Amino acid sequence: MKSMMKIVKCWIEHPARDLDRLFTYLYEGDIEPGVRVSVVFGKQKLVGFVESVEETDKTREELEKEMNMPLKMVLSVLDEQPLITPELHDLAMYMRDITLSTTISCFQAMLPAKLKPASTAKKAVSERWVCVTEKETVLTVKQLAAYQDIRDKGEMKYSEARQKYASVLARLIEKEAVRVFEKEKEAEAQAPVNTENKKKLNELQQRAFDEITQSDDTVFLMRGVTGSGKTEVYFHLAEAALNKGKQVLILVPEISLTPQMIERVSRRFDSSLAIYHSGLSEQEKYEQYRIVCSGKARIVVGTRSSVFLPFMNLGLIVMDEEHDSSYKQDNQPAYHCRDIALFRGRFHHCKVILGSATPSLESYARAIRKVYHLVTLPERINGTPPLITVTDMKAEIRGKGSYILSSVLKEKIAVSLEKKQQAILLLNRRGYHAMIRCRSCQETLKCPHCDISMSWHRDENRMKCHTCGTILPVPMMCPSCGSTAGFAAYGYGTQRLESELHAVFPEARLLRMDADTTTGKNAHRKILEAFGRQEADILVGTQMIAKGLDYPNVSLVGILNADEGVARTDFRSCETAFDLLMQASGRSGRADIPGEVVIQAFDPQHYAVACAASQDYEQFFVKEMAFRHAGMYPPYTYLITLTVSASKQEEADISAMRIKNALHGNYRTIGILPLLKINDRCRSRVMLQGKDLDEMRRDVRTFLDGEGRKIRDLRVDVNPLVLE
Ligand code: ADP
Ligand code: ZN
Ligand code: ZN
Repeated sequence: MKSMMKIVKCWIEHPARDLDRLFTYLYEGDIEPGVRVSVVFGKQKLVGFVESVEETDKTREELEKEMNMPLKMVLSVLDEQPLITPELHDLAMYMRDITLSTTISCFQAMLPAKLKPASTAKKAVSERWVCVTEKETVLTVKQLAAYQDIRDKGEMKYSEARQKYASVLARLIEKEAVRVFEKEKEAEAQAPVNTENKKKLNELQQRAFDEITQSDDTVFLMRGVTGSGKTEVYFHLAEAALNKGKQVLILVPEISLTPQMIERVSRRFDSSLAIYHSGLSEQEKYEQYRIVCSGKARIVVGTRSSVFLPFMNLGLIVMDEEHDSSYKQDNQPAYHCRDIALFRGRFHHCKVILGSATPSLESYARAIRKVYHLVTLPERINGTPPLITVTDMKAEIRGKGSYILSSVLKEKIAVSLEKKQQAILLLNRRGYHAMIRCRSCQETLKCPHCDISMSWHRDENRMKCHTCGTILPVPMMCPSCGSTAGFAAYGYGTQRLESELHAVFPEARLLRMDADTTTGKNAHRKILEAFGRQEADILVGTQMIAKGLDYPNVSLVGILNADEGVARTDFRSCETAFDLLMQASGRSGRADIPGEVVIQAFDPQHYAVACAASQDYEQFFVKEMAFRHAGMYPPYTYLITLTVSASKQEEADISAMRIKNALHGNYRTIGILPLLKINDRCRSRVMLQGKDLDEMRRDVRTFLDGEGRKIRDLRVDVNPLVLE
């Protein structure tokens, strides 16, 4: 019997905004919502994502007449099973609405590359397996033993059986007692190692644990200084969820920053673990995706995109370092992982724990308004907060001291070396000198593709753009004034700091970690592991080293140019600078030895520096909120930015002008704002600022669906983190 005609509505994989709607095709055969299909679209063959399927007893001709358009047939169905669960489907629609992006871009963001609705869907890797057959045969004793083993296990990897039974296996296959079959390769859930013992919670941790488990609230903000034992509380909550047979998701910032967290989880839990981050290959990601889907993975540690994994029954979501900017996706859809985590928490009726020593202002403001349930861990486990000294670098330079290492910091490094303890020095700028200036016209040398100063790297004697990666030789002639008087270097980066340290402490063993020393695969991990094995006395690095590291032998942290960050023009600069100072201070004295921190600043009075010195988050919060209130910045308002890029500035400005003219309501329409050129792309921006985010979103959506449909290279960001 011929199967019934089906009306198939699908999203087409195409980036254009004006194609972000459902297209109708017909199909006679098995097809379900959530599978990918191959269809002809215009003159192209594209992949579609099936939204709905409706059976009909009408013929194609009747349907075409009824809908008054020609209807094409689906060419083929690409998946045996739907890729996404109904929950994830609803999540994609939610994400589309809150981020004002296209539907297909949300599906794309949610699926690992191998599953993406892409026209070049790569084939999954398969493996050979063996199992017994029904066939009756006469077997030798040896063959029988092998046969029984395979039968009892149900199936066995061919490679494993081959190793165990060698030629016996070949005979069994020949006799057709055992057959070989292919199956898609699947990751083994990480085998439990379980070498870290569960710690008994101290009184404060226990109180936090009880408060969370006994409350009916679902979203908690756990604020606890670094070293207060937050991670241990997460683990106890995770264990409780696992014991109930549920899955657990632990979200961490960009993987490079948190290898230690992953290690801790894998040492601690004997449930099967999946790890998901951007460092995995496509195949590895795909395999992790499948073991989460099948429920084999019980606990997942992962970065931003792991929030989309196909969990079947989540019992807990933890988002560690919830303020971290790597939770926000730069590309479209510019979603924030927190919003997605909260959606999934609501769906699974599970608790979501946002943890941080320095919560984002938005989250803390919500906690104060009791939108989130605030839980605090005010004390370090080992009881002693680090001793913090702030040095005034202006005074240091006036006193003819070094502009790199203050006398206080030098003294303390000497003591640390003497005691055979370790030190971490943070300088959030790589390279040797920061910039070079023409001796004649005083202009800095700028990247020809970006409007940003280039950085001098002495070892190669070359200029690098830290934004687009352009590398140039130091020019003979100044590009601004044509003078050949040469250039003077000023400012300094990690490379310069390293050579200064080498000069002052020739016996000290140094390691440097920044974007220049971590280009190779695993380079990052190797540096940290070497430091962990105490193969170096001092670790020098950029913000990469500020977060999450937990080394018991580190007794000194030095933060150089601590107030450099507060001078930037972004409204969030001070918050970022404060976070960095707090995080970095937290690296010191984590175990039994007391920790010291030296903060070198040109403006030690600045509240971001002063509050970090007194480790006073609340005080910082109050001051920063006053600043935000004065400028009506978030969390007092919401922002939406619409940024157009083009090869010529006028083109970008014309589009931005059209956007500006179209958007008016109970919010401010700011712009057009010319932005720095990046990577040869000129940019122009319009920003909406207001208290009613729903209204702002509605207006932008209406514009994008209508007049704005045709604007190209438009980037929309709801609640942007940075306004660079
Ligand atoms: P945080 O996540 O807040 O920075 P951690 O959970 O990493 O804090 O704890 C800091 C240190 O204290 C770690 O070395 C951890 O092993 C230890 N620790 C945490 N809780 C306990 C406890 N209840 N008993 C003993 N040691 C603990
Ligand atoms: Zn010049
Ligand atoms: Zn550049």
